[in-house]
Amino acid sequence: MRIAALGFHHETNTFQSVKTDYDAFAGYEFLRGEEIADQHLTAKTSFSGYFRAAEKFEFDLVPLLWAFTGPTGTITKDAFDRIAGEMIDLLKENGPWDGVLLAQHGAAVSEEYSDMDGEIARRVRQVVGPDTPVVMTLDLHSNISHEQASNTDAIVAFRTNPHLDAVERAVEASDILVRTIRGEVRPVQHLVQVPMIINIVKQPTAFGPMKEIIDDVNEVLQQNGILSVSCGQGFPYADVAQMGVSFLVISDGDMDLAELHAKWLARRAWDRRVELQNDSP
Ligand SMILES: [Zn+2]
Repeated sequence: MRIAALGFHHETNTFQSVKTDYDAFAGYEFLRGEEIADQHLTAKTSFSGYFRAAEKFEFDLVPLLWAFTGPTGTITKDAFDRIAGEMIDLLKENGPWDGVLLAQHGAAVSEEYSDMDGEIARRVRQVVGPDTPVVMTLDLHSNISHEQASNTDAIVAFRTNPHLDAVERAVEASDILVRTIRGEVRPVQHLVQVPMIINIVKQPTAFGPMKEIIDDVNEVLQQNGILSVSCGQGFPYADVAQMGVSFLVISDGDMDLAELHAKWLARRAWDRRVELQNDSP
């Protein structure tokens, strides 16, 4: 079982006047092939989780590309074209694949694409076709979109802020991918976007209303037929249409069940909307 892994990871602050160009990625963390293993094998990152999952679930992980830099301004068209172009070329040249793992952030914005993660997922889907499963991991500060959900078989976001569970979530995502390839499960995902913003100081998950939201997520995770549950708590400094809180529930073949639970989570979060606000910017 050959699985490709790629990531073009950025938390974009669209209010910053300085754009994020190609050199910002090249000078920070731009890794290809085995360089990714060298840097990430024992780290606390999504890629580390993919490597651990490859060992645990016995598949061949082929790390292709990882481009990352800190939370800066909108990604230039040039940077997007070059990095996304290289990703897609590598995917085409090294296939065929049994599955794809995508390590994205979920709040990336480029000059051309206000939902850059959705565009990456769309291009990956275009290469591998509808029958090759694509599973994407995201940061908890993700603005999850329908474009992202419709172009992937499953999305798994971190569930802790500070982010302590990147490895665990990547293993969870890999598990869903492997079981999908083996025909053991058929993930279907339903996304509900809630028209609200969680103030950044209310976003930690260890206390307060955000903890209660994650408690709800964990409750749904225990239900029969549920494969994964994600809350995108949103990244408020990306001024884009999909910005805000979202819930994505993945069930094993039962879209109505996924929708039911996603709507329940959304309603519960909406009921906490006053507690989730704060006076700070
Ligand atoms: Zn984050």
